[in-house]
This record gives sequence, structure tokens and C-alpha cells, in this order.
Amino acid sequence: MFWKKNNNNANAAPASKAPSYSSVKIHPSVDQGVVAGAPNFAGGTLHCKCASNPVEVKITGNSAHNHVCGCTKCWKPTGALFSMVAVVPRDNLKVTANADKLQVVDSSAAIQRHACKECGVHMYGRIENTGHPFYGLDFIHTELSDQKGWSAPEFAAFVSSVIESGAKPDQMGAVRGRLKELGLEPYDALSPPLMDLIATHIAKSKGVLAA
Ligand SMILES: [Zn+2]
Ligand SMILES: [Zn+2]
Repeated sequence: MFWKKNNNNANAAPASKAPSYSSVKIHPSVDQGVVAGAPNFAGGTLHCKCASNPVEVKITGNSAHNHVCGCTKCWKPTGALFSMVAVVPRDNLKVTANADKLQVVDSSAAIQRHACKECGVHMYGRIENTGHPFYGLDFIHTELSDQKGWSAPEFAAFVSSVIESGAKPDQMGAVRGRLKELGLEPYDALSPPLMDLIATHIAKSKGVLAA
């Protein structure tokens, strides 16, 4: 009953009359509260869940546009309702160990998700279509790193899509309530700035806007 309201939350702000949805589980990295990133974080290493010969990916510099995502395509840890996913410039990402264990999950998808064949973890998602609005950015899951300081999630994308993964439609009020409590504004697509970025790219490619 993860969606059940919990009104006995000792951590809730006492002055707040807002209902507490702290028993609603979103993702292990945010369920105890969103942790701020470090402004000068220099990057780190992601590794898959294999006990031996894990795939390693080195990221130079911090992540950007980190968010929780309710779509059915992003990798999420077992039991989580949402994934947590961020972007980095593709030139800042290097596979540094056991690259031979990676395979593309769905080569027809816009984002080619490179997953470990053994443990199933997605190490990075890459866009190969140079005309795609997000070409040049790779998608990563910063929870795969032991380092602290990665940019914090800022919003929740594709929230309604969690129904496709088994969430009940009547739980959605509690799910959105919890996301708002965490400061992760829920959207049923991407956030307005990212939707605007996509539309601007399309408008320019069609000549509606000057390039
Ligand atoms: Zn693995
Ligand atoms: Zn997603």
C-alpha cells in the first residue's frame, strides 16, 4: 500500500497543513529527500551491478537536467516506480572497463540504451540521429556512481506513464502529491524548458524560426 497517506510523518514540517505522502516510494535516491548536488563536482565513475568484471563508465564533469522519469524505457532499480536520469555531453563519457559486456537494448529506439548483458543495468543512452533535438547528449543514471555531488533531480517527467508499469490510476494523486512534496514538479511529458527546446529545434528545422 505504498500510496497510502501517512499523516504520522515525524519529519514533516509542523506548520504545514499539506497532506504527507511520505510513504509513497518514488525512487531510492529521492525517497529520503532530494540531495543537493555540489557546484564544483568534477564527475566520477558509473559501474553496473555485476559482482565481477563490472562495466565501468567514466564521466568528466557534472550531469545536467537530472530528473525522475516514469516512462517504461528508462532503466530503474528493482521495485522503483520511477527511474532517475540525467544528461552529459557525449564527449564527456567514456567506457573504461568491460565494454564487451554492453549491448543496445532496442536499436530502433531514438535513444540507444547500452545495457550490461549480465546484470541488465543501462550504463548510458546515446542518440545517433544528428537531427534529434538532444543529439550530443548521453543519458546516464548517476546512482550508479559511488561519488557524491552529481546534480540533483529537478522535476518528474512522464508521470502518467507509470500506469503502464502497473501503478493504479487511483494512486496517481498520491504519486503527484509525493513528487510535489519532494520539490519534483510532476509533468506528463518533459519539463516546459525541455519541451520548448524540442519545439524550437523542430521550428528551426522547418524554417518557422530563424536558425
Ligand atoms: Zn553488469
Ligand atoms: Zn524515461
